[in-house]
Amino acid sequence: MTIRRLMALTLFALLFLGSTLAIWALSRTESSASDQVLSAGLAPAPGAAAGNASSNDIAPEETPPVTPEPIPEPVATEPAEVVRVAEPPALVQIPADLISTPTPDSATAVPLPFLTNIPAVPRDGSVVYLTFDDGPDPIYTNQVLDVLARYGAKATFFVIGNSVDAYPGVVQRMINEGHTVGNHTYYHEALPLQEPDHIAQTLGATDAAIARAVGHKTNCLRPPYGAMDQRTFDLVRGQGFTVHMWEVDSEDWKLNDSYAIASNVLAATDLGDRILFHDGPSNRAATVGALESVLQVLTNRGVRFNALDC
Ligand SMILES: [Zn+2]
Repeated sequence: MTIRRLMALTLFALLFLGSTLAIWALSRTESSASDQVLSAGLAPAPGAAAGNASSNDIAPEETPPVTPEPIPEPVATEPAEVVRVAEPPALVQIPADLISTPTPDSATAVPLPFLTNIPAVPRDGSVVYLTFDDGPDPIYTNQVLDVLARYGAKATFFVIGNSVDAYPGVVQRMINEGHTVGNHTYYHEALPLQEPDHIAQTLGATDAAIARAVGHKTNCLRPPYGAMDQRTFDLVRGQGFTVHMWEVDSEDWKLNDSYAIASNVLAATDLGDRILFHDGPSNRAATVGALESVLQVLTNRGVRFNALDC
């Protein structure tokens, strides 16, 4: 081997060794940088204290598991209470406090029977019958009486016994001024929903209240809501009552507008008709205003206003 060949081999060996060392050093540097990125962002640094709170908070394995919202259990007690409240008493009776709200005699929230063959009153010449339900009321009944007096008109008031006991003086005024009074039950009950004993009781208590106020009872009955079935009809006839429905509904129970109420009446009234108004227990100012118009127009046409024979 020549010296030149020996030198060439030595140089080649040195170059190989140098390049190998350079590659090894470079790979060490990249590995170290990669470790630093991982430890800074995602994992606790080696040797970090267990008490390092912020480090623990961000550790994925220490995040509290997200528990789903608990499904509310069906509430067992509240519906039971509602059912208990809604349960009708043995005797279905409209509470007295309902009388302080409008009590429409032509519309009910519950289906009620309506007997269609209840006789009308005999047609009598040029007479119309004004009738007022749900009084007496200390304000509006007196206003109605004032209007009637100005026109010399007579009317019939189907009174609630409970209100008669509260305002007997208003009923006395009705009688003193030539009007008549009919029975409209003591608490404005829907009679077909009542037991026979209760029907006798509510009608008897109202008659007694009227008798206490004016010295005599009545044989006229208007059933609240106009609700009537054959059983109830036979029952009240047996107690001596004449059942009075109406031919014309002024709709003052749903209209708060004198013009609309008067228009209803004037458009629909024939001679001999019984006209349904309300003089209590809520604000009846619109009825009072309508009554003035009706009396003015019909009086000018020669119509007379008589009370029913009660
Ligand atoms: Zn009524």
